[in-house]
Amino acid sequence: MSDAANAPYVPPGTGWPDDLADPGTPVAHDAGEVASLAASAASLHELVARQSVCRACDRLVAWREKVAVERRRMFADEPYWGRPVPGWGDPDPKIMVVGLAPAAHGGNRTGRIFTGDRSGDWLFASLYRVGLANQPTSVRADDGLRLIGTRMAATVRCAPPDNKPTPGERDTCLPWLAREIADVAPSVRCVVCLGGFAWQNVWPVLKDAGYEIPRPRPKFGHGAEVEIAGPDGVSLTVLGCYHPSQQNTFTGRVTETMLDALFTRAKTLAEI
Ligand code: SF4
Repeated sequence: MSDAANAPYVPPGTGWPDDLADPGTPVAHDAGEVASLAASAASLHELVARQSVCRACDRLVAWREKVAVERRRMFADEPYWGRPVPGWGDPDPKIMVVGLAPAAHGGNRTGRIFTGDRSGDWLFASLYRVGLANQPTSVRADDGLRLIGTRMAATVRCAPPDNKPTPGERDTCLPWLAREIADVAPSVRCVVCLGGFAWQNVWPVLKDAGYEIPRPRPKFGHGAEVEIAGPDGVSLTVLGCYHPSQQNTFTGRVTETMLDALFTRAKTLAEI
């Protein structure tokens, strides 16, 4: 095993591909600091850097770093990212894809959301087929993948045990997503929510970003579509999409045809 593989996780500014943080990047240690550091980030670049070093949730920090040390046997010789997985993709996207949280041995290992896990295999293959990605696979942060008019982020940016963040962890993390969506609001015309968790939590985030939110909250479903007015009267459409989790793809609840149709619709709405 290499020296790099023996490192517990990747400290900021140590040369990991796409690592925007450096040792001077401010670190959030509680919910209040997440809110203030998200609000005061001078650019999307700085926001991403700040997300990537956050330590506000004790349980999730301990879990992500424990996983990064213990590793799965098949990745035993790889260093793990072991940090929050920030938003990634086009800085001026027309489509924003929102997921739940990074996978312990996917994004938490590779440092890029949906990268190196089965859900990502399905997601990026579909994005490639419909013309929203330049290649069908996403295996490492330096694999050359580029999203076309599209950006993606997790609702909760640290891998949670059993893929289940607590309500407190979710609420603590939401200002990162709210600020990211506010930053891309001038260009974004469609938000694709992968799964019910993203769907439920995107509404308060959109409200914080200046959008008018329907009441009662619309029900989640694959293909659910809600148009909302945003800042400066520019509207966007929220689309519901079943999560391409292994459970959903194995059981046929989500198929390639369903994903392709959904992202084709997103492309049409976003006029890409
Ligand atoms: S889940 Fe979000 S708020 Fe909590 S430590 Fe990770 S990045 Fe910070």
